Amino acid sequence: MKISLKFSKKTIAVLSCMTLFLASCSEDEIQIKDVESQIEQSGAKINCFGNSDLHMRGPRFVGFATPANTMDIKYFIDPKMPQEWVKAIREASSIWTNATGSINMSQTLSRRNATVNYNYKAEPARYEKSPAGADFPDANGNFGVKIDINSNYVPDAVQNSSAAPVLTAKLRTYVTVHELGHNFGYSHGNHLSFMPARFTTDEEKWAGMTRSDIDLIRSRFPNRDIIDPR
Ligand SMILES: [Zn+2]
Repeated sequence: MKISLKFSKKTIAVLSCMTLFLASCSEDEIQIKDVESQIEQSGAKINCFGNSDLHMRGPRFVGFATPANTMDIKYFIDPKMPQEWVKAIREASSIWTNATGSINMSQTLSRRNATVNYNYKAEPARYEKSPAGADFPDANGNFGVKIDINSNYVPDAVQNSSAAPVLTAKLRTYVTVHELGHNFGYSHGNHLSFMPARFTTDEEKWAGMTRSDIDLIRSRFPNRDIIDPR
């Protein structure tokens, strides 16, 4: 039997990903790496989308935000933002603020004074399975400047464990916590319970940041200035 040594581009991408993620190479990570490598080859910004990777957009990762830039994050919410998303944004901000002393988020009513802007934006049809997208920090360690909530998000007609889910209050909060993770500099491979690319009804089970999430976050954003209640 003849063994073919011809690999497709995708196979090569998957294999190289498996080398990079030997210890923890999930299917999602393989898919992301695959898409990222294709995008890097084309020289475009990272917009990794697919069936399970729906919400990382914006400039590519160059580094994390510095704690000096996360002590006083002010967010501005687009006046067009539906109330159910405003609620999710406030909840997600509290979740991150409660994670560690060097992260504080509060709302500002002045777009000019904002560290990060939440926009309510109609994305092109090709992003209809993506509920939101976020920017990474810049090269100076400034917090990512925006999160776009997609007004054109379309859940899959048939709901199952791999479908783009119908949004609920819980899922909106989850998505916002995840997008903020990108603003801090976290990627889908960063081992935080809320950072996998996966976004399905399974995320309804997410019960808030875990002890391990908080420890990992505090290793980068120290828990200064507050008494740890845990
Ligand atoms: Zn993401």
